[in-house]
Amino acid sequence: MKAFEAANHYISKASRIMTLGPRVERLLLSLEAEHHVSIPIERDNGELAVFSGYRFQHNSARGPTKGGLRFHPMLDADDVRALAVLMTWKTAVVNVPFGGAKGGIACDPSQLSQGELERLTRKFVERISREIGPQRDIPAPDVNTNAQVMAWIMDQYSRLHGFTPAAVTGKPVELHGSEGREAATGYGVICVAENFLHDVGKSLNGATVAIQGFGNVGLFAALFAHERGAKVVAVSDVSSAVANRDGLDIPALVEFARSRRLLAEFQGDGVSRITNDALLTYEADVLIPAALGGVLTRDVAREVRAKVIVEAANAPTFPEADEVFEQRGITVIPDILANAGGVTVSYFEWTQNLQCLRWTEKEVNGRLRQIMTDAYATIRGLVQSRKLGWRTAAYIVALGRVAKAAMLRGV
Ligand code: NAD
Repeated sequence: MKAFEAANHYISKASRIMTLGPRVERLLLSLEAEHHVSIPIERDNGELAVFSGYRFQHNSARGPTKGGLRFHPMLDADDVRALAVLMTWKTAVVNVPFGGAKGGIACDPSQLSQGELERLTRKFVERISREIGPQRDIPAPDVNTNAQVMAWIMDQYSRLHGFTPAAVTGKPVELHGSEGREAATGYGVICVAENFLHDVGKSLNGATVAIQGFGNVGLFAALFAHERGAKVVAVSDVSSAVANRDGLDIPALVEFARSRRLLAEFQGDGVSRITNDALLTYEADVLIPAALGGVLTRDVAREVRAKVIVEAANAPTFPEADEVFEQRGITVIPDILANAGGVTVSYFEWTQNLQCLRWTEKEVNGRLRQIMTDAYATIRGLVQSRKLGWRTAAYIVALGRVAKAAMLRGV
C-alpha cells in the first residue's frame, strides 16, 4: 500500500463508523491544491542543477494550512500528499485553527554545501511565494530542515512581501521563533507516553524505551524520557543503532549528536551495536519510531516486543501492521496525536508573531502540556466508551471537527 492510499484507508474506516456518507468522505479525501515547481540553482562548481519542489495543501476548512518542509532524496508526490493529509487530522486532533499541508524538495542535503542549500531554499520560496503566507499556508521544519532553513524562508518571503515573521514557524528564537519550539515534538511525545503509562497503572519512571531516529524529534524524546527516569535502552540514526540493556548515557549521546556526528562513530561503556531493524524489535516497554514513515511492516510487527508504540514519526506504521498489533494486544498511539506537539508550538509561534508578543519557555510548555493532555483525554474517552483502537478514535475526533467546519462553510 502506498503512503497516500494508507493515509486514506484510516479516513474511510473512521468515516464508515461515523456514517459521514460518501459526499463528505469525497470532500475529505481530495487535496485542495498541489503545487509542483522546478528549482534551478547554480552549484558551487558553476554547474546548473534542477531540483523538484512540492507544496501540497489538503484542507483549509478550519484555517490556513500548516505543515512541514522535508528535504530528502526519496521524497515524491505520493509522500507529500499523504503527509499533507495527516496534517489536517493532526491540527484537528489538538484543535489548533489550521488545516493541513506539506512540502519539500527532492534533494540530499548532505551532498549540498551550506551556500547551495541556502540558494535552493530561497529559490523554492520564490517559486511558491504566492501560495504560502500567514493567512494562507505556513511551512515549518521536518526531516532535514531546521531553524536555519526556516530563517532563510522568512527572509526570502519578507523580501518579496515585506517583513512577515508569521509566514513560517520553527524559526530561531533570535528571529521571532518561539521558545520551546525545537523541543516541542519530543516533549509532546513523552507527555503522551507518560499519560498512557499512568492510565495502565505503570510509570515512565523505570520503564525501558527504544527510539528509532536521533534527530530533532528522537533526540528530545530521548532527553525528556531520560529526565523523567526512563531507561532509554536503544537509539538509532541513519548510520547505526546503539543499545545498552542497563540504559544508555543519553546526555553523552545528545552532546555527541549536537556536534553533528553520526552514531556509527559513537563509543561508550557497555554500548553494543545493533542493526536499525533490530532496534524496532529490541526488548523495551515503549517503542518510539522517530525517523521516517513505513518502517513498521507486517513482518516487523510480528516481532516487535514493546507493549506500546508511540508514533513520533509521521506514518511509521502500515495498516497491515496495525492489524497485527491489534491482534497481539500492542497499543499504538497514533502520529496525529503523539507528534502533534510540534504543530501546537508552531501555532503558539504564529500567534506570538501576529501579536508581536513573546512568551516564556515555561508559558509555552505549560500550554503545550495542557493541549496534549486534553487531546489525549478526549481520545482516551472514545477508546474506552466505544471500545475503539487509538488510531480510529483519533480519526473520529479529527474527521468530526473538519467535516463540521467544512459543512458550515459550505462546499
Ligand atoms: P530530523 O531530520 O531532525 O531527524 C531524522 C532522524 O532520523 C535522524 O537522526 C536520521 O539520521 C534518522 N534516520 C533517517 N533515516 C533513518 C533510517 N533509515 N533508520 C534510522 N534512522 C534514520 O527529522 P525530525 O524533524 O526529527 O523528524 C523525524 C520524524 O518526525 C519524521 O517522520 C517527521 O515527519 C516527524 N515529525 C517531525 C516534527 C518536527 O517538529 N520536526 C513534527 C512532527 C512529526
